[in-house]
Amino acid sequence: MSRVFNFSAGPAVLPEEVLREAAEEMMDYKGSGMSVMEMSHRSKTYETIINEAEADLRELLNIPDNYKVLFLQGGASQQFAMVPMNLFKNRVGDYIITGMWAKKAYQEASLYGKANAVASSSDKTFSYIPDVTDLPISEDADYVYICENNTIYGTKYKTLPNTKGKDLVADLSSCFLSEPVDVSKYGLIFAGAQKNVGPAGVVIAIIREDLVTEDVLPGTPTMLRYKTHVDTGSLYNTPPAYGIYICGKVFKWLKNLGGLEAMKEINEKKAAMLYDFLDQSKMFQGTVVKEDRSLMNVPFVTGDEELDALFVKESKAAGFENLKGHRSVGGMRASIYNAMPTEGVEKLVAFMKDFEEKHA
Ligand code: PMP
Repeated sequence: MSRVFNFSAGPAVLPEEVLREAAEEMMDYKGSGMSVMEMSHRSKTYETIINEAEADLRELLNIPDNYKVLFLQGGASQQFAMVPMNLFKNRVGDYIITGMWAKKAYQEASLYGKANAVASSSDKTFSYIPDVTDLPISEDADYVYICENNTIYGTKYKTLPNTKGKDLVADLSSCFLSEPVDVSKYGLIFAGAQKNVGPAGVVIAIIREDLVTEDVLPGTPTMLRYKTHVDTGSLYNTPPAYGIYICGKVFKWLKNLGGLEAMKEINEKKAAMLYDFLDQSKMFQGTVVKEDRSLMNVPFVTGDEELDALFVKESKAAGFENLKGHRSVGGMRASIYNAMPTEGVEKLVAFMKDFEEKHA
């Protein structure tokens, strides 16, 4: 068996321990005689799996009791619609546009009401986070929306926006569980699992209970109402059962590691290795304003498209997968999520050094 260093932005690398455990349990989960994939989601065994997953997540993030935890489907993209469908009362949402995913959420919301772009970093190819200390927040805004870590551009909010009392809604897909978060600062957090948490097909939403109401936009399908899933403990219909089981294993892996403070320290060390190299390199440059750099997604370029292409090709041959930048921006991007071993980043930096010497 040989595993590569997988720098994919998502679906992404998962902890080897988790994959091994899942493999061991594949044919016979804890004496049930079947895999979790084959199991009724109404069984006692599965009830334990989903309840433990929620309890472990609550512990990791220190989620206050007045927040509900949901395991949903439809990808993070479905949340772009569920957010306005459920939270629009005045049908006004203020959006901060820091990249493609924030823009998509903004465009989706405009299908249901008035979406305002109250700030944007599109003028400089989303290479920074705008000043969010004093935004023109609409008086009647139902919420302020951010994409907290911008997967494609490699930026991250280091301080949350001043929402002037409005509820903050945040897409944490690409930084979820990479560091501690004060959940009480948000009305709603959501994250697709396929980056830091588990397989694609699971979306985790954490929502303050007063935002879970029957007062949703007319025509909102039952499946797209948060209340439907809150009332049934994420078991209104068949959930993405196997995916939730893997998420649960990742939560336990994080707990064993020492929780999110410990994870943050490791992530900071990994990211610093790469950024420090980029900062002194004569060939490679990071593309993001230093103070807004993401710990998870590290885009970089050589400034020469042919050399970029050669780097992607040679790195692949050397066992580094998925270093090509997003199709919309080009260059390179190393996604170094929680499960990327430190060794993977060390080896990548060594490879980049060699490449630089070879092609100087
Ligand atoms: N938000 C962010 C920050 C993302 O990175 C992505 C996917 N890369 C999405 C939303 C969309 O996720 P999905 O494909 O699960 O709909």
